[in-house]
Amino acid sequence: MNVPLLDLVAQYHAIKDDVLPAMMEVIETQHFIMGPTVPRLESEIARLSHAKHGIGCASGTDALLLPLKALNLKPGDEVITTPFTFFATAGTIHNAGGKPVFVDIQPDTFNIDPAAVKRAITSRTRAILPVHLYGQMADMLELMSIARARGLKLIEDAAQAIGARRKMDGEWRMAGELGWVTGYSFFPSKNLGAWGDGGMMVTSDDAAAERLKKLRLHGGAKQYHHEEVGTNSRLDSLQAAILLAKLPHLAAWSAKRREHAAYYTKALAEVPQVKPPVVDPANEHIFHQYTLRAERRDELQTHLKKEGIGHAVYYPVPLHRQPCFEHLGLQEGSLPQAEQASREAISLPIYPELTRAQLDRVVDAIHGFYR
Ligand SMILES: *Cc1c(COP(=O)(O)O)cnc(C)c1O
Repeated sequence: MNVPLLDLVAQYHAIKDDVLPAMMEVIETQHFIMGPTVPRLESEIARLSHAKHGIGCASGTDALLLPLKALNLKPGDEVITTPFTFFATAGTIHNAGGKPVFVDIQPDTFNIDPAAVKRAITSRTRAILPVHLYGQMADMLELMSIARARGLKLIEDAAQAIGARRKMDGEWRMAGELGWVTGYSFFPSKNLGAWGDGGMMVTSDDAAAERLKKLRLHGGAKQYHHEEVGTNSRLDSLQAAILLAKLPHLAAWSAKRREHAAYYTKALAEVPQVKPPVVDPANEHIFHQYTLRAERRDELQTHLKKEGIGHAVYYPVPLHRQPCFEHLGLQEGSLPQAEQASREAISLPIYPELTRAQLDRVVDAIHGFYR
């Protein structure tokens, strides 16, 4: 039995009776651009995030790029972020005219280390961009206090963390609730995936919401009137309809992912060569990825491939070691935790539709390799 890393066809069969009629409604009305499904999804995602405004956009990448553009960065302005993330996190900082400043991660959660953020602040720092990696939130309490003390903006990359939450001062706070602006991705493989590209920004800052709405529509709230130069970054009405039909399933899907994660963690407890993911007790993890640290990681990959077990390395090269960021001058060894994570991390299949037999198959393959 092969176990794929992700099986979107299984999900499609489970939900098509909800999704296809919702798509047909858009098709019947031909409201493809900024039709009524877009504002409906925007208010649903804002509500989920405990935020005032949702602003749909074309991708998760744009959901970071537009708030970064709204900062009006000048050459040399710095945005502090993690090197252990998908490329878009730092690529957008560069494309918004800023300089990404990479700091190291916490080895247990793989998330940005607030103490390292604090040390990296200079007179040119404008913002902090934490990522809620693999589906668990970064230490927002610390990051918020650092940002507040210095007047810095906090932009959350929640592309992997829609619906994740964290207990802070005794209260559950959602991903998307605490930053100045938060970016979500609806890339098909994300926990809430569209059938194509899509993204959303949420914020509780009224002025920021107005600005972001302009930036996604060529810089003008009124058609053919342009206060500034924006771009075309709309969320497609069809994608919004699909996402509205999928959204009611999200909580149950996340619960399934947590259940699978607990099963793996228990079943792998006697394998000393692997370290299951550490969940910060303050976090409710949504397990976008289930990521182990593994001894002889590359050999394990070869073994899993031979066994027909889907797996992936997120991320094999930390961003400070990418050729495009060589000019930043961060040598091998400069961010040791991120570098070690890149050598040890391996993600296993964790999608909700996995069966018990498939989970056992993955576990057996790992036992088999280290035995
Ligand atoms: C997926 C992802 C993005 C970008 O989203 P797209 O919709 O693919 O543009 C940004 N940051 C992180 C951490 C992601 O995982």
